[in-house]
Amino acid sequence: MRALHHVGSPLLRALPRAPLTAGAANWTFKRFAFAGRPEKVEQNLYQARTSLMPPARTRFAPSPTGYLHLGSLRTALFNYLLAKTTGGQFLLRLEDTDQTRIVSDAEQRLYEDMKWAGLKWDEGPDIGGKFGPYKQSERLPIYRQHVQELLDQGKAYRCFCSPERLDEVKKLAMAAGAEMPGYDGHCSHISVPESERRAASGEAHCVRFKTHGHGNFEPLFNDLVYGFYKPMPGSVDDFIIMKRDGFPTYHFANVVDDHLMEITHVIRGAEWLVSTPRHVGLYNAFGWQPPTFGHVGLLTDPQKQKLSKRHGDIDIASYRNKGYLSEALLNYVVLLGWSAGQGTKGTSEVMNIEQMIEKFHLRFTRGDICVSNKLDFLNSKHRDKLLVQSPKYLQAQVVPPISLAIRTLEQKRAGLPQLPEEVPDHSMATTFDQLVPAMTPSCSDGPGLINHNEAYIGKAFELDQRNYVNAASFVQRNRYLFWTVPSKVYQQTLSEGMREFDHLFIRTSETTPEQGHIDAPRSAVEITTAFADALRDIPADESSWTVKRLQEVLNPLMKSIVGLRSIIDDSKSSTETREKPWGFSIVRWFLFALQPGPALIPSMVVLGKTETMARIQKAIDSVASDPSTEKSATAEHV
Ligand code: GLU
Repeated sequence: MRALHHVGSPLLRALPRAPLTAGAANWTFKRFAFAGRPEKVEQNLYQARTSLMPPARTRFAPSPTGYLHLGSLRTALFNYLLAKTTGGQFLLRLEDTDQTRIVSDAEQRLYEDMKWAGLKWDEGPDIGGKFGPYKQSERLPIYRQHVQELLDQGKAYRCFCSPERLDEVKKLAMAAGAEMPGYDGHCSHISVPESERRAASGEAHCVRFKTHGHGNFEPLFNDLVYGFYKPMPGSVDDFIIMKRDGFPTYHFANVVDDHLMEITHVIRGAEWLVSTPRHVGLYNAFGWQPPTFGHVGLLTDPQKQKLSKRHGDIDIASYRNKGYLSEALLNYVVLLGWSAGQGTKGTSEVMNIEQMIEKFHLRFTRGDICVSNKLDFLNSKHRDKLLVQSPKYLQAQVVPPISLAIRTLEQKRAGLPQLPEEVPDHSMATTFDQLVPAMTPSCSDGPGLINHNEAYIGKAFELDQRNYVNAASFVQRNRYLFWTVPSKVYQQTLSEGMREFDHLFIRTSETTPEQGHIDAPRSAVEITTAFADALRDIPADESSWTVKRLQEVLNPLMKSIVGLRSIIDDSKSSTETREKPWGFSIVRWFLFALQPGPALIPSMVVLGKTETMARIQKAIDSVASDPSTEKSATAEHV
């Protein structure tokens, strides 16, 4: 980017109107986009113009050298939205000319990730189309033909320099202070007959574009985001268009394909801005109209470090594995350098893909963009929408990640290597630590994983779906829906929960529990036993162990339990008794060790009778085996 000179918008205003390429509306549209932030009135006008644009043909052109990540998903999305908002087409093209860097499953993963994200392409390698093939390695004859065209016109030449010579030239130029040493033009003087003869005799060579000296290099180009640019003098050398292995370079294949595939707009990351003068040079050499370029700012972390594979740019599948919804992730990336317009902060930033298409325009933020921390917020908002619109779909999205989070924790607990699909995740490590001591293997009696098949996780999700933020936080919050409670945790939490009471009582009454009288203090063990007694006779089958039945049996019992504390008022020399209901707390204690979470009786139904009764028994046993934790009825009270 250093090589580019930003001319900026004042010049823009002074420039005469460019020849129209896609209609007057398109040009007017571009003028607004280039002129920086338009005033409010202009903005409305601007948005109106968007709808007047002719159909755009856009493409997403990844190289299968890695997986889809935040930056590339954003590029794909912007191109998709532009095509859809103008009623045009969105293409997928695989730029696989660098065969040495191909990652074997990258192509397959790309299709999966794009489909998961909801970005459907109209033409592409897997579905074909009028302008195919859409994989560059299958288009080699097309590139060769176009290279030949430039050779024939003297706009390109064969270069026979060995890699060793090129290295030497580079070193010398750097020693002489060149910042970006380019090719020295050594082979540009070889005559055409000699070049043909050497090539025919099989001498290794590449083909270079003759950048200067024949009037085909027009450096100035107009970017939707950055305005007018031209490269610094001398910064673009005679670059390679066809490599020694017969494959085209990225620059060449990209230009030929964008032209032949009739691409009208190219939105891509600002890292490509520096390459664009080369592309424009090639368009001009062929006499083709370049597409409209828009280079969107690079993503950085909060420390202003560019996102990269090593720096927090997490691949898209790992967001899915963590339980983020594709709707939320798309919403998250669309806001990285773009917004629907003034006054759309907060909840009105929440958009599904149809709303994005409706609101889309081409006014992007200029410069680097720091990734936000809105993903959890957006996930919750899209969760709420989906709970109303399609709860089954929502459940299908979140159950596999919850299952993965549980299995990951189990792997870590057992000290086993990570699961293949698990991506190292700091939040997961924190979750695990927060579950200590409940989750440490040193806990002699647990915890045990009770059930984690998908049907069970689905029911567990329904219990607490309104609080779902992501898979790790859901598992953390609802850990005792998935694991048993260790004895030690029962002991600790009972003493914490009982801190505010001197005694527990059960009110007895023939009429209502609230009006009954208080009899002798009971121990927590006695009270818990009363729950076991009340539940014992309900059969375990699904049609008997129901919310309704459990409510009938448990509600009166829960309401009848009170905790009492005597407060001595010294000024009046009297003792006041404070009373608080404690029935619900004792149930939350034996079920979930007082951990906040979903409603108790529906939870008992999901846990099932066997597990519920086992928890009651374990809670009793753990307190009975350690009387120090128990505020029991003592001899003098009885
Ligand atoms: N193959 C390039 C990439 O992987 C495409 C850049 C472009 O959009 O022109 O990013």
